[in-house]
Amino acid sequence: MATAGKVIKCKAAVAWEPNKPLVIEEIEVAPPQANEVRIKIVATGVCHTDLYHLFEGMHKEGFPVVLGHEGAGIVESIGPGVTEFKPGDKVIPLFISQCRECRFCKSPKTNQCVKGWAADRYDVMALEETRLTCKGKKLLQFLGTSTFSEYTVLNQIAVAKIDSAAPLDKVCLLGCGVCTGFGAAVNTAQVEPGSTCAVFGLGAVGLAAVMGCKFAGAKRIIAVDINPEKFEKAKVFGATEFVNPKDHSRPISQVLAEMTEGGVDYSLECVGNVAVMRSALESCVKGWGVSVLVGWTDLHDFAARPIQLIAGRTWKGTLFGGFKSKDGVPEMVKAYLDRKVKLDEFITHNMTLDRVNDAIELMKHGQCIRTVLSVSQP
Ligand code: NAD
Ligand code: ZN
Repeated sequence: MATAGKVIKCKAAVAWEPNKPLVIEEIEVAPPQANEVRIKIVATGVCHTDLYHLFEGMHKEGFPVVLGHEGAGIVESIGPGVTEFKPGDKVIPLFISQCRECRFCKSPKTNQCVKGWAADRYDVMALEETRLTCKGKKLLQFLGTSTFSEYTVLNQIAVAKIDSAAPLDKVCLLGCGVCTGFGAAVNTAQVEPGSTCAVFGLGAVGLAAVMGCKFAGAKRIIAVDINPEKFEKAKVFGATEFVNPKDHSRPISQVLAEMTEGGVDYSLECVGNVAVMRSALESCVKGWGVSVLVGWTDLHDFAARPIQLIAGRTWKGTLFGGFKSKDGVPEMVKAYLDRKVKLDEFITHNMTLDRVNDAIELMKHGQCIRTVLSVSQP
């Protein structure tokens, strides 16, 4: 490769400060260091977590940053010590690493590798280290990834090699949203056949949770959203009933309890709102109901009455759907290629990276499920 070992100048969407449009800039991407892989990003989805960082979290130490964490690309070059990858490999960058050596990687109970960005900088949402610069300034790599850039660099513990037949403009969604929602149902809630589920929030994450509930054999899947335009899509992924909280004056947990003789077996919050998290918990049946927090927020505490847990409900959370990333992502790519999981149906818009601000606006106004941005030609 002509570019190996050299700094690459390329295009990226830079978030210089919170709450401002991204700016397409020419940036410099350093060559990969030991155990690192430089990746040419071909396609990326826009996820609500990108919007959270830009408009809601707005952590002052989290800027300037290159957002994007739901991408797919091709290895351009590798640093010393990399044996697992070679230039030309199709890969998905991972916002949760899997080093296979830490206490967490060795435990089957979690996917939270200690080497990832979330280990100690979950509020800043980026690692201290970055290989990206622009106009003499260091650009943070959002969630360690930065897929709104033609090139990025990751440690090999945060890269998954995938099937060479995989279409990158589809499987990019497995870098975040679809694995997160699907895994929340299958791995974290461990939905059982014949059960009744409720999914709150029908973005890509919630729709993937609906798909996971169906995959696990749920009999009833109640889709809850304040935007009724999402219901048609939810049906495609297996939802059987639809509830718009705006149609009811009673608490939504009461509505669901009446529909289900006392509450659902599993509920999944895919909004990122602490009030909805409480409703989701309260919608679960006492005795054995399980409620999973999937939506991301770190701004507010949440509340519940102790009796709700004392009565036998379980409240849990999930990061990346509980998937051990390097193992799980290639398996999900295979499941897509084998037509066991859907991806194409999540994609409502395709654009180029230059239009990233339009894609952000669409999501802000609930007008898309996923926009896939084409970042560079494979
Ligand atoms: P999205 O914006 O596309 O979807 C959110 C949906 O929630 C929308 O359809 C919206 O209409 C609906 N909604 C809003 N308020 C509601 C309410 N009060 N009741 C019911 N529905 C409501 O977002 P997305 O990309 O699907 O992401 C969803 C959430 O998941 C975000 O909080 C995101 O940050 C989070 N997330 C978490 C992880 C993780 O690892 N835990 C990973 C990815 C995304
Ligand atoms: Zn995401």
